[in-house]
This record gives sequence, structure tokens and C-alpha cells, in this order.
Amino acid sequence: MNRKKSGLFFVNKIYLSALQNLKFYRLWAVVRKIVPPVLAGFLAIVVWGKLPVFAATVGTEDGLALALRLIPEAAAVGDVAVMEIAIRQPVSDIQLRFHDTLIPLFEHPRKDRDVLIGFIAIPYHSNPGTEIIGLGWRDGKGNHELTVPLKILSRRFKSEKLQVTPSRVTPAPKDVERIKRESEEVRTVYAASRPQRLWDEPFRRPLNGLVTSPYGTRRLLNGKLKSYHGGVDFRAATGTPIYAANTGIVGLAKNLFYSGNIVILDHGSGLFTTYAHLSRIDVTPGRLVEKGQVIGLAGATGRVSGPHLHWGVKVNGVNVNPLHMLQTLNSLFAMDATGTAEVSQPPVVRK
Ligand SMILES: [Zn+2]
Repeated sequence: MNRKKSGLFFVNKIYLSALQNLKFYRLWAVVRKIVPPVLAGFLAIVVWGKLPVFAATVGTEDGLALALRLIPEAAAVGDVAVMEIAIRQPVSDIQLRFHDTLIPLFEHPRKDRDVLIGFIAIPYHSNPGTEIIGLGWRDGKGNHELTVPLKILSRRFKSEKLQVTPSRVTPAPKDVERIKRESEEVRTVYAASRPQRLWDEPFRRPLNGLVTSPYGTRRLLNGKLKSYHGGVDFRAATGTPIYAANTGIVGLAKNLFYSGNIVILDHGSGLFTTYAHLSRIDVTPGRLVEKGQVIGLAGATGRVSGPHLHWGVKVNGVNVNPLHMLQTLNSLFAMDATGTAEVSQPPVVRK
């Protein structure tokens, strides 16, 4: 009898602890729902308030060679982070690497010439976790390497269903060849960014209009083709003037099967803006356009469900959220001119 009782007690205990676990998981589910938006809000405040969240100075025993800032310290898919490198001592061969790719470095638009920046673009299909940014440089003592962690946050995107002309979802055989040719042509344009930064003012939106579809939206076209939205859509009636987001050189200006009439602007150092579905193109390839210049008129050409402007931003080969690019890059113009930063976290330095 006693044994039976203690057995029952034992079962009860397991049951209780299972209940507690269940409670814990329910609590965890709630926490997981609440924490990402809170973190996102915090990040927005950090970026908006122009505060660096990662800052460090690195060097050898006899002094500091480089001062680094990563803005922001954590980024979600589709975001752009800025690595700022202030050179304090004579160094050479500075190399910034992300995903095994060399990131173009160029002069900060507002600071001294010895302050360089590079963009870290987070692809849409990245997994949450920590990724490593590599930095290498050379001085009188030899080669140096250091790594900086970048937290990748997950982000939930809404989904939408669109109805477009069926031939733009299942292209006719004659169009398949055209699509292939055009995607190769676009790739060539993106691979040939001018090395220097062509802009020295903040970026602007290409028009004043409501956002009708944000970056990242998961899409189902005509009930069968799954894709994601690689840019941002603005409400724009056919004929609405579209302005260059910043100074750049026209990389492409023509009609493409999916994008319709498109203009691609090269702003230098791996940064491009694209303007799709235009009813009219007002620029020609190779021409320099100024920020705010009309590059064409909004329309409904290519694969669309109605007139609008699709605005895209490509950074170092990655489609990023154009509105996040605006926020992060424009914060460069509001920063303190000295670039002084407290050491908040020592990076891992290997010699
Ligand atoms: Zn779009």
C-alpha cells in the first residue's frame, strides 16, 4: 500500500513537473512574440538617435591603429549596417570582409578623409544568429586580423496575393530566352559599380507617396508562383514624376520583361537604386544624374497588377530594404564630426 502510494506520488510529481514545463513553454511562446518587436523598437531608437551600439579601438602595444563603429550592432534581414573605420596610425591594405566577400570601403561623406565606411548588407534569406565581419590591415609590424560579431535578427513579413497577366507568371518560350538575356544584362550592370562614392548628400525618396507594399512581403502570384518582394512599392498614378534618390550614373535605362521600363542608378562603391514599371524613361545609360532630377514617369509596365513605383536598393549585390537604407545612410549626416567613441566591447584580435 505504502509502495503504491509513493508510486502515485511519483507519477504526480512527473505530471506536475510536466505541467510546469508546459507553463514555461507557454510563457516562452509569449516572450518570443513580445521580444522581437521590443528589440526592433529599441534598435529603431538607437539608429534614430544616431547612437553607436558597437565601438572599439584596436591596435598594437604602442598605440591605437583603428577606431571602429558598427551601426547598428544588430541587424535584421534586409537591413544595411555601416562599418566605420577611423585610421589613427599609418596602415595599409585595409580589408573589410562579409560572407567571404570584400566590401568596398570609401570616404565618409561628413568626416575627415581618414574615416572610411563600408556597407554590410543582410540578405533576405539569412538565418538569425551571429555572423562574423572580418577586418584585416597591415602596419610596420605586419598583418593584423580582427573579427566583429554582427547579430542577425529574424523578422516576420506579411504575405499578399496578387493577380497579374498570366504570361508574366508562365512566360511563353520566346520570352524565356529574353528573360535569361535580360537577367545577364542586369547582372553585368550590378557588377560594374564605380569605385568612388558619387553622392555627398543624404538620400531622398523617389516621390511623395504612400507605401502600398513594403520590402520582404511574401507573395503568391496568380495563386501559384511564390516569391518575395525585393523592394518597396509606392502608390503612384501613371505620369507621376519620379526623382533620382541621389546623384549617380545611369547604369541601365530600358524595357525589361518583368520590371517594365526600368532605370538603374549606380551611386558608386556597390550601391544602386532602381525604379521600375515606368511609363516613360527620361535618362540614357552613362549619363550623370543629380539628386532630385526627374528620371522618368510612373506607370504600369512589366509584371504589375496596376500603376505604381517599385523602388529597389542593391548594396554589394544584395537586395535590401530601401527604407532601412534611407534611415541608416542618412544617419551618417547627423553624426558628431569628431567620430569619438567609447570602447564598449573589445573585439577579438589575432595577429
Ligand atoms: Zn514592387
